[in-house]
Amino acid sequence: MLSFISNKRGRNLFYEGFLYKINKTTISKVYFICADKSCWTKLATNCNFTAILSPPHPEHSHEAPSELIEERQFREQVLASIENDPTKRLKDVYDAEIQQTEEETVPNYYNIRTTMSRKRAKTLPPVPKNLHDVSVGGIWANTSSGQPFLLHQDTGFSIFCTHTALRYLVKSPVIICDGTFKCAPTPFTQIYVFFAIIEQHKVPIMWALLGGKTQQHYELLVLILQAKCLERFQTVLFLILKQVSLQQSSYDYRRHSTLAVSFISLNVYIAKCSHWG
Ligand SMILES: [Zn+2]
Repeated sequence: MLSFISNKRGRNLFYEGFLYKINKTTISKVYFICADKSCWTKLATNCNFTAILSPPHPEHSHEAPSELIEERQFREQVLASIENDPTKRLKDVYDAEIQQTEEETVPNYYNIRTTMSRKRAKTLPPVPKNLHDVSVGGIWANTSSGQPFLLHQDTGFSIFCTHTALRYLVKSPVIICDGTFKCAPTPFTQIYVFFAIIEQHKVPIMWALLGGKTQQHYELLVLILQAKCLERFQTVLFLILKQVSLQQSSYDYRRHSTLAVSFISLNVYIAKCSHWG
């Protein structure tokens, strides 16, 4: 396959350091002409662009536009990298390509950021309009290393936790839960996180995207988790309610007391650990 480089007006053929645009297409050949308007060099390829049928002729009337092409090649590499993994931060993608590239002329990050974010928007699945539209599947249900990450999915509930992480949650002497509303992605109301204690560190283990903040939501979340733990490890979670949160703002108080009621009404074990006095 011959190499093509995209620009605002479409894709140009890149051959031996020069760029060509399509001039004419027939049943068996595609004719190209140099992208430089003042130059008359032409060539022809087969219809699936795998071979040059007529080499460039006559000679170019100008030097090969190396800097421009290097910039465009770098741009192509960056965009291909986004297509390959659209979950990475744009700046990280750019920096990784800078490390790898052999090109001397590369575009500034701020000059290609918009193109990069457009590419990412095209590659990512569309943002669901409502909770019924949410459907996590394919690579999006796995971790970047390919482990199953989606633990449960239902309207208003998308719960993420790997099998290994769930085992840590079951074994943890204390489980800490907290929700955040600010950074919940549309159309969810909150991200609820369960933390386990692993070697005296609080480690986020399970992330639940919840479609609401009612008692029913918390009850269902706990029910789902307990069902998963029973099914996989023949045990239930021993949950501790962090009393500290009850002394925080009234907003937190309401939220955590709702959760407290949920746990008690479900007859979940409530253990008190020495970590919290
Ligand atoms: Zn030319």
